[in-house]
Amino acid sequence: MVETTSILIKDTTLVSDSIQKTSILIQDNKIEEISNKLTDNDASKVINASDKLCMPGLINTHSHVAMTLLRGVGDDQELQTWLNEYIWPKEAKLNDELVYAGSLLAMAEMIKTGTTTFNDMYFFMEQTAKAAEESGMRAFLGYGMIDLFDDEKRKSELNECKKLIKNCHNTANNRIKVAVSPHAPYTCSEELLIESKQMARKNDLIYHIHVSETKTEVDDLKKQRNQTPFEYLNDIDVLDDKTIAAHGVWTTDDEMKILNQKGVSVSHNPSSNMKLASGIAPITKYLENDINVSLGTDGVSSNNNLDMFSEMKTMALLQKVNTLNPKVLKTKTTIDITTKNGAKALNIDAGEISVGKLADIILVDTKLPHMTPLRSPESNVVYSALGSDVNTVIIDGKIVMEDRKLTNLNEKEIIEDVSQLAKQL
Ligand SMILES: [Zn+2]
Repeated sequence: MVETTSILIKDTTLVSDSIQKTSILIQDNKIEEISNKLTDNDASKVINASDKLCMPGLINTHSHVAMTLLRGVGDDQELQTWLNEYIWPKEAKLNDELVYAGSLLAMAEMIKTGTTTFNDMYFFMEQTAKAAEESGMRAFLGYGMIDLFDDEKRKSELNECKKLIKNCHNTANNRIKVAVSPHAPYTCSEELLIESKQMARKNDLIYHIHVSETKTEVDDLKKQRNQTPFEYLNDIDVLDDKTIAAHGVWTTDDEMKILNQKGVSVSHNPSSNMKLASGIAPITKYLENDINVSLGTDGVSSNNNLDMFSEMKTMALLQKVNTLNPKVLKTKTTIDITTKNGAKALNIDAGEISVGKLADIILVDTKLPHMTPLRSPESNVVYSALGSDVNTVIIDGKIVMEDRKLTNLNEKEIIEDVSQLAKQL
């Protein structure tokens, strides 16, 4: 008898440099077999994908998903003004209900644009966990710790983090993991950075932090400690292969050596860096220095969406114009950064369509004017595709969207809820 949890993706075209049809069998939450000999009898559910491209789900390694509530707030400001005058006053009004609704909205948007995993840092994270559990998404969730160099605040922030680990880590069939997430070196005391790293090491968790986002941040730290951000973090021993540094815009050549030695992953957020005029992260240099680079959207107020297809194209174009070299960030590298490298950063066995990997898979429509002709699937995915071309999404072996319809979420209701609730902010 055929198991009820098996899915056959039939006659699909894998995103690679050649066009060749094959089929993929998913058993439970893993890719069981890839072969053109598979038949309808091999699975209980068959998806005919003959006019679709098949690729690993996109991995967003830096987000603040509930910020969907703040879409359109504080456009055209630089980071410090944006935070102090626009974002933080509104965030002070957040509560469980708002974060839950904003998280659901983000997940509807992410699934509909092909993201299967995200690494989030924010507040009221148990609400985001609840939304992730319901939506079927794979999530790394971190409570964004900020002590502003206050002793009491440090202790309470660490307690919040501890509580989140206890309540949410390894829940939802292990789809949900907690990442220890001190906000940044300029908002966290040295003690908080160190003690939170100890907590991450003790529980074998990802350590997620904003680093070297703006020139001001770097200049201030140099004045205070005569060190650059990564020199400082290395000095207090919080860098290792479980560390994800978001942004890394102003990283120096000497810091590159540190990142390489320690195996740190950098999460690149090109749209946010461009919108807040923070600068252009040296992605080609990171790659030359063999540093793992992954991709993120950052929060919606600095993007202003969560579409990783758009982010992927922006990343490639930005590096080309920045280096005046069209040969950098070739299509395969660009796709790897958005899939495989994200999985490496988060230490999950996903990000590739190969046997034994987690079944986090997306199918992209090809019978569309802007996807025709299909000379190179890689080229069309990076330069032509839109997030809305994603037709079907499978996460952890479960279909969470089929033919553009979300299976676990009520899209209409979610949109209506957030439209109403956002008025409170
Ligand atoms: Zn951020």
